[in-house]
Amino acid sequence: MTAVEAGESFQADVLIIGGGLSGTWAAVAAAREGASVILADKGYCGTSGVAAPAGPGHWWVPPDADLRAQAIERKYAISGGLADREWMAQILDCTWRTLPTLAPYYDFPKDEHGVTQFRALRGPEYLRAMRALVGDHGVIILDHSPALELLQRADGSIAGARGRRRQLHRPWTVRAGAVILATGGYAFKSRLLGGQNNTGDGHLMAAEAGAEFSGLEFSNFYSIAPKRTTMTRTMSYAFARYFDADGRELDIVPGPDNSRDLGRALLRGPLFCRLDRMPGDIRARLSRISPNVPLVFDRLGVDPFVDRFEVTLTAEGTVRGSGGLRIVDENCATCVSGLFACGDVATREWVTGAASGGGAINSSWALSSGQWAGRAAAKLAKRSGRRAAEAARATGRAGLCPTGRARDLSPSEIVREAQREILPYDKNLFRRAATMSASLTRLERLWDAVKEGLAPAGDGAVAAREAAAVVAAARWTHEAALARGESRGMHVREDAPGQVPDLARRLILAGLDAPRAHFEAERVPETAL
Ligand SMILES: Cc1cc2nc3c(=O)[nH]c(=O)nc-3n(C[C@H](O)[C@H](O)[C@H](O)COP(=O)(O)OP(=O)(O)OC[C@H]3O[C@@H](n4cnc5c(N)ncnc54)[C@H](O)[C@@H]3O)c2cc1C
Repeated sequence: MTAVEAGESFQADVLIIGGGLSGTWAAVAAAREGASVILADKGYCGTSGVAAPAGPGHWWVPPDADLRAQAIERKYAISGGLADREWMAQILDCTWRTLPTLAPYYDFPKDEHGVTQFRALRGPEYLRAMRALVGDHGVIILDHSPALELLQRADGSIAGARGRRRQLHRPWTVRAGAVILATGGYAFKSRLLGGQNNTGDGHLMAAEAGAEFSGLEFSNFYSIAPKRTTMTRTMSYAFARYFDADGRELDIVPGPDNSRDLGRALLRGPLFCRLDRMPGDIRARLSRISPNVPLVFDRLGVDPFVDRFEVTLTAEGTVRGSGGLRIVDENCATCVSGLFACGDVATREWVTGAASGGGAINSSWALSSGQWAGRAAAKLAKRSGRRAAEAARATGRAGLCPTGRARDLSPSEIVREAQREILPYDKNLFRRAATMSASLTRLERLWDAVKEGLAPAGDGAVAAREAAAVVAAARWTHEAALARGESRGMHVREDAPGQVPDLARRLILAGLDAPRAHFEAERVPETAL
């Protein structure tokens, strides 16, 4: 973005960057506190984000003390000791109270006994409802308006952000009393369903402003998909059989925890699948439960219940991983004053630890953390006034302000090079120090090329910034995975298979040019309810 280019300027109490599940809930909560709110999304708020093409199930447990305690214990048991029961209880409560309030905007179905079903929502309709709810609260939505960088005052506090209005081909600036990052997890442009916008822009902006990360080693969740498609909705694979290229059936148990078995098979050669174990009643309802899933098979010309079709694993990074921006209090504040984080851009270790929160916890976290951040940001903005007249500097560097002309790589070439170091199963799913160190060396060189070489103009800044974020995310991922010299949750080290009891601590990562990781001094306490 050039300084002389004329753009649009706005002021608000609260700016929200990202208009998926968490960003829209944050916007509603901030507006309910009486704040003026602007929400900027890279895509079209109401269709973008990973929840929109999915069918997000929530963590939905009635307020019965025993039922809640059992639900929490079940999830705590797989958290690697990094979750916090009190936070888990808070999102259960928040989800239970919040979803019914959406009834005027969303047609919740009833079961055969006439009981309204709130747990799982149809993604497209859910996000459409959220857009309507946000609009009815007077929030100004900037669609197709990716944020590129944060604005920071001399005292380090965040004063707003700048970005591009893609369809108008000009920059935007929002001055705000508080900023909430809701840009989702990062997925390395791996073609994850709904995830092409989730390049880690928010992580990069926050790091440039001095924020820290937590749990980025929990960033190697992989999901099954028919090969050459983006269809990573996985419910159907609970009924899968797997075969090698010669048609021999493989001994792989279907279910959510088999990605390492699938990865091993894929390293040996092509992998095929058939869904003939799916019961007839579910087959009949599939097009209502997951309408976009049968569409993909229709396009491939495959009957998945009869034919064997080729499958692959898609990297989800921190989307259905659990690491993200470190939050320092129950308001989802980051360690940078005036900057909050919610949903997948924030660490979800509090509620899911080292395990994936996909299937229930992530949506509940998005809905809850969004509202907590929204309320707190509104209160902060009101307390501090808009401080609109105070000078603030733009913090964006990598991909925006070239420092030289080392290697002339295009954004897409940069993304491809980074992907070569982070997507392969033998580099990120089956982790070893030697492989990760070698990848890091190559990523360091790529990072130098990003800083020195990208010289974007106008709308080109968006792709340049995405490329910078993908490289930064790949570096942070390997850096954190190297630092945790044990196996815990989804982070499995082939060269350090056991769990080290003393490492039941969160791993904090900070820095951009020379990222450094350290464990928190205190072990995560085992809070009782
Ligand atoms: C296929 C699939 C199925 C899932 N199913 C479930 C489930 O059943 N249950 C469950 O709990 N979880 C599920 N999840 C996870 C859940 O959908 C996410 O946790 C949730 O959507 C997170 O919300 P979010 O708002 O943080 O991120 P997202 O929904 O990803 O939204 C991020 C938004 O930020 C925008 N953005 C990105 N960069 C910028 C930028 N620079 N400027 C402006 N905007 C930007 C994007 O356009 C996007 O709209 C699933 C995920 C996938 C991929």
